Amino acid sequence: MRQLTFIKPNTFELQDVPAPKLNADTDAIVRPLAVARCDLDLYIASGFAPYAGPFAFGHEAVAEVVDAGSKAGVKPGERVVVPFQLSCGRCATCRRGWTNTCEAFPFRAAYGLKPACGSEFGGALSDLMYVPFADHMLVRLPKGLHPVAVASAADNVPDGWRAVAAHLKARPGANVLVVGGLAQSVALYAAGAAACLGAGRVLYLDDDPVRRAAAARFGIVVEPLNLAERRETAKANRSTSLATGGPEQFEITVDGSGDPDALDYVISSTAPNGVCTSVAIYFAPATPFPLVKMYSKGITFITGRVEARGNLPAVLDACAAGHFHPEHVTSRVVPFSAAAEAMTDSGPKLVFTNDWVK
Ligand SMILES: [Zn+2]
Ligand SMILES: [Zn+2]
Repeated sequence: MRQLTFIKPNTFELQDVPAPKLNADTDAIVRPLAVARCDLDLYIASGFAPYAGPFAFGHEAVAEVVDAGSKAGVKPGERVVVPFQLSCGRCATCRRGWTNTCEAFPFRAAYGLKPACGSEFGGALSDLMYVPFADHMLVRLPKGLHPVAVASAADNVPDGWRAVAAHLKARPGANVLVVGGLAQSVALYAAGAAACLGAGRVLYLDDDPVRRAAAARFGIVVEPLNLAERRETAKANRSTSLATGGPEQFEITVDGSGDPDALDYVISSTAPNGVCTSVAIYFAPATPFPLVKMYSKGITFITGRVEARGNLPAVLDACAAGHFHPEHVTSRVVPFSAAAEAMTDSGPKLVFTNDWVK
């Protein structure tokens, strides 16, 4: 079968590799229909994130089941979302809801990210994908949802969702601040999720006009970040009124910037007893962190990889109900046959459609 293989930055190869086969009665083989570029994929493809090739590329897929074992829980022809993380659904860690650290697979096991876990599980930009524990892994695509619209549901969409969903449940109607940047699409999905989950005011800040335009489609307040200016204004406010100074305060904040200065601003904008989630990856071994501000205000900080499988059903329900529209973020739809050349395109979300099978 065909497999798009990452060789080195800006170099992909379409390779012929053995097609996967069923090994257990809970296995399934699926054919990707729509594959989204994860925010991390852009940085791997461009060389900004140091991932050594060769390895099968792509890990966000909506697919069609082509073969399934008797206990796979799915049948050929059904459309499914394939969570990017491999998990068994049976081990003690999975049963506690942490499928992102399943004990049955190597740490950080995922499709299309061999260097992260050391094992090759295949990629989404391939004719076929092998899905073990399909009865647990695969989530049916609800009727009426187009694969292209939710192509990123395997990873980046639930990543944005988890940054706000549980916190809005605990703080109904809370105001939400999202600062976009490096985690291009995840921050936008977080802002869109906040709007559909009943947040009060949702403010999205970003210096990139294309991402601002995408954010505006969610009907939220969108402004340029202008970090230097905002910090000056916050400083001036602080000197005139110690009690209420500093930037506008939000109970729930999301950092997608990947910029330590912007992260500091997001934490400064988190209200006392508020919660800040960073969905960006800080590649430096250490990142400056304003712990004293956080201590004084009692701020909870969350970072880490999404638990994609666990968040998927709620995400897909919201999409199927018409409340959440991840397609607002999609900047370009590209056929598989042009995926390699398009991989480093600007824009927050590329979606690749399978034109290999006519
Ligand atoms: Zn990813
Ligand atoms: Zn497990």
